[in-house]
Amino acid sequence: MGKIICIANQKGGVGKTTTAINLSASLATLGKKVLVVDFDPQGNATSGLGLDRYESDFCTVYDVLTNSENIDNAIYNTSIKKLSIIPSNDNLVGAEVELLQMEKREYYLKNILNKIKDFYDYIIIDCSPSLGILTVNGLVAADSLLIPLQCEYYALEGLSNLLKTYKIVKKRLNHHLNIEGILLTMFDKRTRLSKQVYLEVKNVFPNKMFTTVIPRNVKLSEAPSFGQPVLIYDRDSSGARSYLKLAKELIKK
Ligand code: ATP
Ligand code: MG
Repeated sequence: MGKIICIANQKGGVGKTTTAINLSASLATLGKKVLVVDFDPQGNATSGLGLDRYESDFCTVYDVLTNSENIDNAIYNTSIKKLSIIPSNDNLVGAEVELLQMEKREYYLKNILNKIKDFYDYIIIDCSPSLGILTVNGLVAADSLLIPLQCEYYALEGLSNLLKTYKIVKKRLNHHLNIEGILLTMFDKRTRLSKQVYLEVKNVFPNKMFTTVIPRNVKLSEAPSFGQPVLIYDRDSSGARSYLKLAKELIKK
């Protein structure tokens, strides 16, 4: 049975989407069958994996939320074998409002993914930078939470709110939810700050940190504009190697 991993952090720009794209591509390259669920109206995972989010007849995650029978039409292949995606675009903003009026609103994504979970080894959900109903749906649907944390001042700020949400969801809505790990991103080995953040996070969460740390690497930021995971864009880059290492660490767990 597949494992569902929700990538979340309500802080913007910490590397959620970069991780969703490149961890998924790495897992697929290692032979796993993987589905990315773009669960952010910004649609960055969608365009980053080479799909045009403005395509008019696109069937998106929004269409599946409003009618779960659309699920088969909403799964698209990517340029990587074994890697598919359910895309998103700004329609999803509407779902945020519509869901709030529904009963059992926290369970919509879970009910959808339950139908297809067995066809994949991993399903990776890329959340938006918020702790709203969409992210709660992601956490309710998931087996585990992966938290990217950018190596910067105040890296840990806001993390307590995320962990509070995690605890509430685990207690009330999804007892199975676990923390997959905290992933340090944009690590710059030349700066003292990065090392300080690393030590601080390790001190606060000694058992929750991934051994793999993602370095700051320009190839990771260039690849999405070509609609490619970094493994295709520049497979020898430090970014590509580190996400491959992360995938191996995750499989080993
Ligand atoms: P949002 O909260 O808006 O969804 P996010 O958490 O998904 O953002 P990303 O979009 O993955 O964050 O990354 C933010 C920016 O930083 C992007 O321009 C991305 O290309 C860049 N970036 C992410 N990780 C790295 C890295 N390791 N090295 C260099 N640039 C990176
Ligand atoms: Mg994002």
